[in-house]
Amino acid sequence: MTSAKARKAVYPGTFDPITNGHLDIIQRALKIFDEIIVLIVDNKNKKALFTLSERADLIKECCKGMNVKVETFTGLLADYMKKQNTNIVVRGLRAVSDFEYEFQMAVTNSKLNPEMETIFLMTDKRYFYLSSSIVKEIGLSGGCVKTMVPDAVEKALKKKT
Ligand code: ADP
Repeated sequence: MTSAKARKAVYPGTFDPITNGHLDIIQRALKIFDEIIVLIVDNKNKKALFTLSERADLIKECCKGMNVKVETFTGLLADYMKKQNTNIVVRGLRAVSDFEYEFQMAVTNSKLNPEMETIFLMTDKRYFYLSSSIVKEIGLSGGCVKTMVPDAVEKALKKKT
């Protein structure tokens, strides 16, 4: 691998919507890589609250001033990675419960695309149990999500209620 390859990494996910936990991972990843591509993967098995473009706009808004590019993709991550000039994928780890699924995905992805490397970053303990699903559950029931998401996401959630 050339050093040029390691300057950029892809952070894939559903981001429905982006939370402070995701942002924590992006900020950590930017300590290692010059640029992060946040890749919103269109997962047909998951019913999303926000459209792909709403999710992309929220990520752009929350990552203003950071070296972050936002892209959307429908299909297999392993195929997307073949067309990139990086082979590094970043994923976040929360509580132990993430491990089994993340490990399965990483092993499967490297079978589909042997060039791909997945690195895991551990989140701040404040975000150990934070997920987009929890945020939606609380936000859509009129609860306060101020400590969980950036302001723009809080506002966007209110509009969905
Ligand atoms: P996916 O459907 O691919 O799991 P998510 O948007 O739920 O998409 O998550 C994308 C990535 O961000 C995953 O690696 C997930 O573990 C990580 N992540 C989600 N929430 C947090 C959080 N609170 N702290 C750290 N990582 C997180």
